[in-house]
Amino acid sequence: MNAHDSEKVAGVLLARGYRQVESPDSADMVLFNTCSIREKAAQKVFTRLNDFRGQRGRNKVVGVLGCVAQQEGERIFERAPWVRMVCGSASYRNLPELLTEIEGGGTRVTGLNLDTDETFETEVTRRDNPFRAYLTIIEGCDYACSYCVVPHTRGPQRSRTSAAILNEVKHLVAGGFTEVQLLGQTVNSYRDPSAAQMNFSQLLRAVAAVPGIRRVRFTTSHPNDFTREIVDAIDSVPALCGHIHLPVQSGSSRILKEMRRTYTRAEYLERISWIRAAQRESSITTDIIVGFPGETDAEFTETLSLLDGVKFDGVFAFKYSPRPNTSAKDMPDAIPEEVKSQRLAILQQRQREIQISENQKFLASEFEVLVDGRHESRGQWSGRTTSNRIVNFTSPAQNLLGQYCQVKITGAGPNSLVGEHIA
Ligand code: SAM
Ligand code: SF4
Repeated sequence: MNAHDSEKVAGVLLARGYRQVESPDSADMVLFNTCSIREKAAQKVFTRLNDFRGQRGRNKVVGVLGCVAQQEGERIFERAPWVRMVCGSASYRNLPELLTEIEGGGTRVTGLNLDTDETFETEVTRRDNPFRAYLTIIEGCDYACSYCVVPHTRGPQRSRTSAAILNEVKHLVAGGFTEVQLLGQTVNSYRDPSAAQMNFSQLLRAVAAVPGIRRVRFTTSHPNDFTREIVDAIDSVPALCGHIHLPVQSGSSRILKEMRRTYTRAEYLERISWIRAAQRESSITTDIIVGFPGETDAEFTETLSLLDGVKFDGVFAFKYSPRPNTSAKDMPDAIPEEVKSQRLAILQQRQREIQISENQKFLASEFEVLVDGRHESRGQWSGRTTSNRIVNFTSPAQNLLGQYCQVKITGAGPNSLVGEHIA
């Protein structure tokens, strides 16, 4: 989502006549888009800003965007007085006015208001990935997970109108895209604010029906808003991709309650059973936090047993990181850093074994792959299946970039498949 926010902000600048240069040193304006989801990401910002203190930053506008901007606000000007703009994502729609202030010589220009029901619409969006176009459909978050900084940095949940979204999809097709990925912190909580009143699964069907669209992805789904209707839509509309990213965070219902995730282990597993019962095979990926305050060895073992039961296709696992303004920050029984690291390593090893064994099942299967890369040294093309699996394959063809190819699988590793082009 941050990468796509940058594409939209760059679009605002391009529409004003700015142009991209080769390096920050040759730029008149340098904007840092920042993440504060974990402490480590947030710390990086000040290191990067320090690069622009003194001579290197002279005659440049240096600005900070995103979640660290929202979280730290005007304190950034105190720590890095050479910064001239601080703007959180909920204020991006005001960027043209903020830029006018900057261009008029303004210093300490801020966009920090979180209280909004408006979304960030852009006339121009820079597209960094030529094969997959990202599209934000819902901004902010109305959940209140006890570990998470997002509701405090991205503001309340607000959906774009279905008309604005469908219009953007049509423009993307006209620009040559066949694959789009719908984005939102809780993408499936989507509620059309216009008279059309589409819910998420209706929007999915409408996007997939735009002529020229061959693949529709979406991320991230919240288990609480994950309905059978979504599974039915994927089952009946081939253009809807068979990949669901459904973060579970923990396999222990007690920890889930402490996290304020609003579902139990059993309710999560019920959603998994809907996906598994569908006619089309879908891949399922998840996010997990290890070492949440008070997590016992037995509760961590429940997370491992959930991995064994679900057999996810991929897991993004993180050590719990206490964040400002969150209720978990001051919870008792913090887990020591070395225990968190051990748990993370155990979990990643277990998941790796699952992926090695699960991926063997695809040997001799055939997949349609959208080609998005070439490894010259290995003589292989690379692309993704509808289920978002990476396939590296050989082909006698000269240039396959951007094309859909049928590939037969001949090998499987933990994170990717290997194959041969068959048509
Ligand atoms: N909205 C999504 C959801 O509800 O699952 C995910 C949002 S967050 C940007 C992405 C992931 O970062 C989360 O799923 C969670 O696993 C992880 N995360 C969020 N806050 C964290 C924290 N304080 N410490 C460690 N990991 C965290
Ligand atoms: Fe954060 Fe929870 Fe909202 Fe996801 S649903 S963005 S984890 S508060």
